[in-house]
Amino acid sequence: MEEKRVKRRIVLVPVPAQGHVTPMMQLGKALHLKGFSITVFQTQYNRVSSSEDFSDFHFLTIPGSLTDSDLKNLGALQFLIKLNQTCEASFKHCLGQLLQEAGDIACVVSDEYMYFTKSASKEFQLPSVIFSTTSATAFVCRSVLAKLNPDKFLIDMNDPEVQDKVFPGLHPLRYKDLPTSAFGPIESILEVYTEVVNIQTASAVIINSASCLESSSLAWLQEELQVPVYPIGPLHLAASACSSLLEEDRSCIEWLNKQKPRSVIYISLGSLALIETKDMLEMAWGLSNSNQPFLWVIRPGSIRASEWTESLPEEFSELVAERGYIVKWAPQVEVLKHPAVGGFWSHCGWNSTLESIGEGVPMICRPFTADQRVNARYLETVWRIGIQLEGELGKESVERAVKRLVMDEEGAEMRERAMDLKEKLNASVRSGGSSCKSLADFVSSLETKSSMQQSYSS
Ligand code: UDP
Repeated sequence: MEEKRVKRRIVLVPVPAQGHVTPMMQLGKALHLKGFSITVFQTQYNRVSSSEDFSDFHFLTIPGSLTDSDLKNLGALQFLIKLNQTCEASFKHCLGQLLQEAGDIACVVSDEYMYFTKSASKEFQLPSVIFSTTSATAFVCRSVLAKLNPDKFLIDMNDPEVQDKVFPGLHPLRYKDLPTSAFGPIESILEVYTEVVNIQTASAVIINSASCLESSSLAWLQEELQVPVYPIGPLHLAASACSSLLEEDRSCIEWLNKQKPRSVIYISLGSLALIETKDMLEMAWGLSNSNQPFLWVIRPGSIRASEWTESLPEEFSELVAERGYIVKWAPQVEVLKHPAVGGFWSHCGWNSTLESIGEGVPMICRPFTADQRVNARYLETVWRIGIQLEGELGKESVERAVKRLVMDEEGAEMRERAMDLKEKLNASVRSGGSSCKSLADFVSSLETKSSMQQSYSS
């Protein structure tokens, strides 16, 4: 009789935010398909519910971690810092218990921002794998920024003359494209980056990207980090799985079914961005004047000082009834796949960027913070499939951008390039593709356990 093989377990620790949870759960699914058992450690805030996609996963909660009201009181950056402080001891305790119960753990894969996991992995001599849910280029930026003198950098960043200059060594990124954040002061961000890029005890880095998108940034990381770097993305194409924290309004698909091919502008600013009422009105009138149909995701609470859409003027609501559709949250990948969608107005979060390229949809880029500006710059100048709206938002510039993207020859050329990248991305996750091979290499590195654990002894 054949002996029943016990599956090795992988522990996943996502950041409790949609843009981090989604790729981590997709990674879990990809690793589960490779034969691993999966345990997901979650915080008390923003828990993924066990769905059909994850029915075999084991979910555990780190006790004492922060909640929704802590996020509101502290703001995103301080929340993250506090989360890392609060969870360190309780995670160690939980991981110790899991080791006693489950025995063999192949590795702990934690989001790069959940750096509190490193001490527990070290204590139990478990391979610690860092998962970066942002682009390789954003990782390079964080590594460069973490080494800067914060005082000098602060002076540079406050100098308006420097803003448009290319940052040395990071072409084509300008100072203003660097992933500093609206969530907190530069000093605190650099402190967090120092923790995030400290990979001394890590045995590998996994990145949700593909070599056809970012070969030079990936090569830079491979050389600098001195541990294997595995670009295995885009994970939504490799192992799609639904881990939406908000309820998706599927009625927008029926609305899309009634629209002409490639006519609709889809607008979504992700799960965290906040927009000023003034900007929202410029967007609304620009969309109205463009005469194109639009599908707009307005997340409750995403317009500053509004519950939902009450600050939209009545005339605009009449227009929406004619050729627009507003939802609170959409099944985004399905929307981007829809033949009626001609362009995506995005805040350029990395998941949205990958999802748009993965469907060959060109973009209007209006980044807010963090790595979004890096992605927007790459979309416009490297992949040349996006139009970036910079500076003050005006209804004229919105109207022009929509027309350029959906009606002009320029937009058609962007779509062609986006379709070409779509093919390349899909090929990279298929058998024989670079990301598919990279995932297989990562899995076989787990089988040679001792090499993964060398980092603790060296
Ligand atoms: N998303 C969605 N429905 C929406 C808006 C966004 O499912 O109506 C998903 C989107 O597909 C993406 C994630 O939310 O996977 C947002 O991640 P991203 O990195 O783009 O931005 P963040 O929310 O982290 O700023």
